[in-house]
Amino acid sequence: MKTQSTILLVDDERTVRKVYEVVLTKAGFEVHTADNGVQALEMLQPGHPYDMVISDLNMPKMDGNALVSEMRATPRLAMLPLLMLTASEEQDDCLENLGAGVSDYVVKSRKGSEELLARVANLTRMKRLQDEVERASRTDALTSLSNRRHGCERLEEEIERARRYGRDLAVALIDIDHFKRINDTLGHHAGDDVLVAVSASLAGISRQSDCVIRWGGEEFLFVFPETDGDEAAAIVERFRQHLQDNPIHVSAGDGTDVPVTISGGVSELQIGDTLESLVDRADKGLYEAKEGGRNRLLMWQDDHFVLVTA
Ligand code: GH3
Ligand code: MG
Ligand code: MG
Repeated sequence: MKTQSTILLVDDERTVRKVYEVVLTKAGFEVHTADNGVQALEMLQPGHPYDMVISDLNMPKMDGNALVSEMRATPRLAMLPLLMLTASEEQDDCLENLGAGVSDYVVKSRKGSEELLARVANLTRMKRLQDEVERASRTDALTSLSNRRHGCERLEEEIERARRYGRDLAVALIDIDHFKRINDTLGHHAGDDVLVAVSASLAGISRQSDCVIRWGGEEFLFVFPETDGDEAAAIVERFRQHLQDNPIHVSAGDGTDVPVTISGGVSELQIGDTLESLVDRADKGLYEAKEGGRNRLLMWQDDHFVLVTA
């Protein structure tokens, strides 16, 4: 995890940028600079590294007020802390800035860097808390996988992307077989250990672009972008075999090895699919896999299910 906060410093005057850059760098921040609002917005693309923006108010091209309006109107930048550097002590200016979505401000003419650093520290602390809350809201607490709400958002995005660029997309719905028996015979803690271990293994075989979601109690949805059904089925089938051949060690109780198997259904994105119809076919495959005796994988192909497991 990143410990050092990264700041985007926006000011049209080179000497001012230099002074603030030195102060902030000395205080342990990583500082990148921009000359004006237009350049700042270019640097604030999706995936940007910034924890906060410090911006001058008066700049050519796009001034600080225009920058803050743009940022607050852009959902992914709406919550990014912005500290305004204002030249004036005029209270009206300051209040107007706060009303427009500026997080805090510092009057440039005041001597010393203590006030600036105190305000920056406040804002970066808030940002860290905000990031933590955001991460927690996306994550399943037990398994650390994506929770279903966030998983659905990701899947919607992947469906949209696959449509737009004409790419493949496959999903697999995976369910642990007779999981209730593990809880009933070894206890709920052992059941939890199994869920954590299966989740870690699934996360381990996933690629950077994949997404593994805790879909329900002992049910997981694996999202494979840019992957067709056959490739996805091959990955999940290898995982099924691996689990079948390697019991899971649980530390709950006296510690024991628990044989675990999974069943699954795979489907790939078709024309006219919605999230619901795509997942529903995987769910039907899973149901058929359970009906057929469990510890197996089925895939929807053309208009029927085929058994992937040999
Ligand atoms: P099947 O092979 O048909 O899937 O049978 P199953 O026993 O796996 O499925 P069933 O739906 O009957 O039972 C799932 C159990 O999973 C019931 C529920 O109490 C348990 N469960 C759900 N969430 C958790 C959890 O977070 N921890 C533990 N330990 N158990 C959980
Ligand atoms: Mg089950
Ligand atoms: Mg289930």
